[in-house]
Amino acid sequence: MVYKIKFSKKKCVGCGACVVACPENYEIIEEKAKPKTKQIETKDCNFDAEEICPNKAITITEE
Ligand code: SF4
Repeated sequence: MVYKIKFSKKKCVGCGACVVACPENYEIIEEKAKPKTKQIETKDCNFDAEEICPNKAITITEE
């Protein structure tokens, strides 16, 4: 299964929760989160990041 990460820079408030939940794929650059990759192949910590984001800036869909 391939999943696509949709990330809204506009919704991101730079709180860093996604980086704590999934440091493998998120970093903070210039006060906004940035996913290193937007395509994943397994259910991993990206789903934790999606769930924990207070502003729903991360949405993961099945390809
Ligand atoms: S958890 Fe959401 S609002 Fe917070 S830095 Fe990550 S993407 Fe941005």
